[in-house]
Amino acid sequence: MKKIALFACLVCLPFMLNAQDYKNKITLVIHGGAGTITRSNMTPEKERAYNDALKQALQAGYAVLKKGGTSLDAIEAAIHVMEDSPLFNAGKGAVFTHDGKNELDASIMEGKNLMAGSVAGVTVVKNPISAARKVMEKSEHVMMVGKGAEEFAKKQGLEIVDPSYFYTEARWKALEKAMKEEKVELDHSAKDTTGALMHDLIFIEGKKYGTVGCVALDQYGNLAAGTSTGGMTNKKYGRVGDAPIIGAGTYANNATCAVSATGHGEYFIRSVVGYDISALMEYKGYSLQKAADEVVMKKLVQRGGEGGVIALDRKGNIAMPFNSEGMYRGFIKADGTMEVRIYKN
Ligand code: ASP
Repeated sequence: MKKIALFACLVCLPFMLNAQDYKNKITLVIHGGAGTITRSNMTPEKERAYNDALKQALQAGYAVLKKGGTSLDAIEAAIHVMEDSPLFNAGKGAVFTHDGKNELDASIMEGKNLMAGSVAGVTVVKNPISAARKVMEKSEHVMMVGKGAEEFAKKQGLEIVDPSYFYTEARWKALEKAMKEEKVELDHSAKDTTGALMHDLIFIEGKKYGTVGCVALDQYGNLAAGTSTGGMTNKKYGRVGDAPIIGAGTYANNATCAVSATGHGEYFIRSVVGYDISALMEYKGYSLQKAADEVVMKKLVQRGGEGGVIALDRKGNIAMPFNSEGMYRGFIKADGTMEVRIYKN
């Protein structure tokens, strides 16, 4: 009997140690969007407000991880803070479409079983990241859009708001400016010899990609990723970006990494950014940093795709490369060490 107990202990020991290891490795990383974010176009008040909001989001996610919550719970908690803040282009404060609406996209993915959920073009769900999670956990589908997604969210008991809830004056002004500049830019582009594409001009105001995202590692060794956005200012015809596309804006796999992206969605979709980072790790044995740099700093740059990612592996390694001027970002580690950054250096 004693022998059996001893044998069981010896067999279990590595796993027990493993679990303890992960307890010391819990990590949460967030972004609040990339783009033309420079010290010169920032005020001390604005900088403080962003720093505070990012720290609040990190702490909300960390509190969940610390008390034994899962990476999914932590991601949802952190993203709720940013969705509820008017500072970010997600939930309250989302950008406006060409028709003056807020159409929200979000997705979430679990690394342990590759389960995923996403919603696109929703207009009345207060926290789209929760709708994405419900799609993953309470339906047999991965992606729902528009009215159907809203009806499902309602049935799942999620908080539904009047579309006016998402309104902020700043984003409305940004739409007005984008629409005005689009016209100016299009007129200009007619004589332009640089060959600038129409869609680049349409998104001229979208140079700040205020999407929010989070990747986390919990004490059970599970990675997860989530992303939520209003998309790009002045978007038309039900345009959907990369944020709700699994493999592009969001990806998680315990065998490799968890990724959440922000940037010019069309390029991120075509480059399958999240999955490409994971694939470089899986097939080529790249480290997290090398894989993320390869995709964000080389491939995307060559293709003209502005933006960045946050990425995390199961060892707790973090990568946060971006090829734009800045990216709101931050991380918190198991011991509570927290860092928030905005600019390139
Ligand atoms: N990636 C988002 C989109 O294209 C925009 C952003 O990152 O802010 O919809």
